Amino acid sequence: MNVDKLLIELEKKHSGESEYLQAVGEVLESIEDIYNQNPQFESAAIIERLIEPDRVLTFKVAWVDDQGQAHVNIGYRVQFNNAIGPYKGGLRFHPSVNLSILKFLGFEQTFKNSLTTLPMGGAKGGSDFNPKGKSNAEIMRFCQAYMLELWKIIGPDTDIPAGDIGVGGKEIGYMYGIYKKLSSEHNGVLTGKGRNWGGSLIRPEATGFGTVFFAEEMLKTKNESFKGKIVNVSGFGNVAWGAIKKATELGARVMTISGPDGYIYDPDGISGEKIDYLMELRASNQDIAKPYSYEFPDAQFHEGKRPWEAKCDIALPCATQNELDETDAKMLVQNGCICISEGANMPSTPEAIEIFLENKILYGPGKAANAGGVSTSGLEQTQNAMKLSWTAEEVEEKLNLIMKNIHESCVKYGKEPDGYVNYMKGANIAGFMKVANAMLDQGVI
Ligand code: NDP
Repeated sequence: MNVDKLLIELEKKHSGESEYLQAVGEVLESIEDIYNQNPQFESAAIIERLIEPDRVLTFKVAWVDDQGQAHVNIGYRVQFNNAIGPYKGGLRFHPSVNLSILKFLGFEQTFKNSLTTLPMGGAKGGSDFNPKGKSNAEIMRFCQAYMLELWKIIGPDTDIPAGDIGVGGKEIGYMYGIYKKLSSEHNGVLTGKGRNWGGSLIRPEATGFGTVFFAEEMLKTKNESFKGKIVNVSGFGNVAWGAIKKATELGARVMTISGPDGYIYDPDGISGEKIDYLMELRASNQDIAKPYSYEFPDAQFHEGKRPWEAKCDIALPCATQNELDETDAKMLVQNGCICISEGANMPSTPEAIEIFLENKILYGPGKAANAGGVSTSGLEQTQNAMKLSWTAEEVEEKLNLIMKNIHESCVKYGKEPDGYVNYMKGANIAGFMKVANAMLDQGVI
């Protein structure tokens, strides 16, 4: 494999798909050596077959708002790779959604799902629909219209979608309802379901919990822990919420949350009733940062800024891709941050990652550190198949064990001669090897 040549060819074929090209570039650089040591990969064109999605579906989603006005959005499902199991990956509803973003997410998901050790292939989907400011009735009508097309290509042994940005328990409920009606089957095809109809305990918190468990494993290698640490979190969605809850439980103080318009710094820490208040705001599809600073006057709202400028020991980016750049990374390092664990997918730019690695900081890339969400989705599917439901303690214990195993795999493939663990390299190689070997076993298809 010649990484530069491959990337040039890919850029020619998919010009302008910057997020997808960024995600592929990062993986290719990590796996180049091991790939070239295994000539069987080259002769089966494993990498050329792995970087292109198996299938991309785009479709029109027409829906009507509360005033009777019709709207059209674009719906997508990218089925990336099913070598190790049925396609699996979330749905994102956000105005920024496009093919490049969904292809980067589907590509990442393939490696992430491989790392979990569960039999899940990679996929991603969603729409450029913006749920912000919409009524529940509008969101329901949109979800139903989206599923009218998607249901044709999903199934419990084919493709199992879940949530992502803009898609939480409410949206999963609306989509599951219409899927059930169309297919006449109650087969658990979506994960992140409500507790009363096949959902798993701990699934809502799982991604954030897993990000903290992964960070805890990294910290242990330096005889450190969350206890007494200052933690900065970005976003305040499904992932950030779980991360804040678990970091606080482990004795840390979380100082920040953020939205696209800026971040909140709360010198008293963000926990307890403050989290309940934030959850209420989220449930009514409102912005959170400004109202929070009005409700808790000691908290400061830093408009147009990102939480990485505030001093912390541990940073947990939990909002979106490329939300932490080179300047942010330098600031974190200068301010003494010792650990970054990514709850979001690809939140750090390549230049920021370079700074973390140069400074030999504990850096857990999203495809490893946020794999707890999809792992618990896998556990939800297992409970559905067995027609039983585990207690919260049972699910959390299994999740913690999976995160420990992912950490071990990253150490196995990412430990450098001086003892520093390059978790990004480790995650990419460990994820790749399993998928590549499964593809070899199954022939050229
Ligand atoms: P949510 O929609 O629940 O939350 C996203 C949060 O990030 C919101 O608070 C949102 O603010 C904020 N946000 C969005 N854009 C920006 C921005 N440019 N700058 C700062 N904040 C921003 O999504 P999730 O929590 O589900 O997902 C967050 C990340 O985690 C994504 O990268 C996703 O792919 C990843 N992920 C999610 C998993 C899951 O289980 N949900 C699993 C694995 C990864 P606002 O609402 O005001 O727009």
